[in-house]
Amino acid sequence: MDKQARIFVAGHRGMVGSALVRRLKAAGYENIVTRTKAHLDLTDQGGVNLFFEENQIDVVFLAAARVGGILANSTMPASFIYENLAIETNVIHAACRWNVSKLVFFGSSCIYPKACPQPIKEEYLLQSELEPTNEAYAIAKIAGLKMCEAYNRQYGTHFVSLMPTNLYGPNDNYDLKSSHVLPALMRKAHEAKLRGDATLPVWGTGSPRREFLHVDDLADAAAFLMESDVNEGVFNVGVGDDLTIRELAQTVCRVVGFEGELVFDASKPDGTPRKLLDVSKLESMGWKASIALEEGIRATYGDFLERYASMPRTLVTA
Ligand code: GDP
Repeated sequence: MDKQARIFVAGHRGMVGSALVRRLKAAGYENIVTRTKAHLDLTDQGGVNLFFEENQIDVVFLAAARVGGILANSTMPASFIYENLAIETNVIHAACRWNVSKLVFFGSSCIYPKACPQPIKEEYLLQSELEPTNEAYAIAKIAGLKMCEAYNRQYGTHFVSLMPTNLYGPNDNYDLKSSHVLPALMRKAHEAKLRGDATLPVWGTGSPRREFLHVDDLADAAAFLMESDVNEGVFNVGVGDDLTIRELAQTVCRVVGFEGELVFDASKPDGTPRKLLDVSKLESMGWKASIALEEGIRATYGDFLERYASMPRTLVTA
C-alpha cells in the first residue's frame, strides 16, 4: 500500500480511531486525514459530501460511532440508532460517490443474536433475535455492514467490515454512566483503593462471559485488512478466549492493587450471557491478536493514571 495514500480516519479522537492513527503513523503512512467533530459533523450529509469532494480520500477507516456500555445503550436507544445510522449512510455513500478505493467499517460483536452458538461465527448474523439492551445500536451496525455489502454488489466498491469483540485500551471512556465494564471496573477499583473501601460494587451476577481485545490489536487487524487484497466481507476480530465478569473484576483488582471484596448487584442487568467470537476466518488469513489480557490491562492502567487527574468526577459509584 502506497505510504502517500490519503487515509481518512473518521473518529480519530475515540479509542479506536486514536489507536488507528498511532498504528498507521508507526507504519510510515504520511497522509492521515482527520477532522474534529467541530469541523466536520459526520451526521451532517452536506458537510460529509463537501469533505469528500474536497479531499481526494483513498482509504477510509469508519471508526466514528456513538458507543457506550449497557446502561447508556438501554437508556438512550434513539441516540444510538440515529447517530450511527446517520454517520454510516453519509460516509459510506460519499466514499462510493468519490471513488474511495477501500473502506474499513467497524461494527461490534453485539450485532450477533443473543442466543448464538459459541464461539460466534460470522454467518450467525441475523439468525435469531438480538440482545434487547443494545438492540438499537446493533440494528444500526448491522445496517452499516449490509450497506458495505450492497455497495460492493451494486457499485463494485471495496468495503470490508470488522466486528471486534469488547475493546479496551488507552483513551477509553471512564465515565461510569456510559462506560463499558473493563474501564468502569478499573476506575471503581482505583477509587475504592484510594478511599480505602472494603468492598467493590460490580453490576449483575458476575457470571456473564465476555472476551476482551486490546484496541492496539484491533488497529493492527484493521491495517492488516487494508494492506491485504481482501476487498469484501465481514471479519470477526477478538482473542478467541473469554472469562466471567467475576474473573475480569479479580484481574482488574490485582492490577490496580485493590484488595477488598467484590459485591455483586443483581439488580443491574447482566446483558447477554456469553459473547465469544470465532476468529478463525481472520486467523486463517494470517492475523492473530498478540496482547495478553493482564498485560493489556496493566498498560491501560498506566494510561488511566495519566488521565485520571483531569477526568471529570462522576457521582455514580455503585
Ligand atoms: P455489554 O458487553 O454490551 O453487556 O456491555 P458492558 O461492557 O457495559 O457490560 C458487560 C457486563 O459487565 C454486564 O454483565 C454488566 O452488568 C457487567 N458489569 C459489571 N460491573 C459493571 C460496571 O461497572 N459497568 C458496566 N458497564 N458493566 C458492568
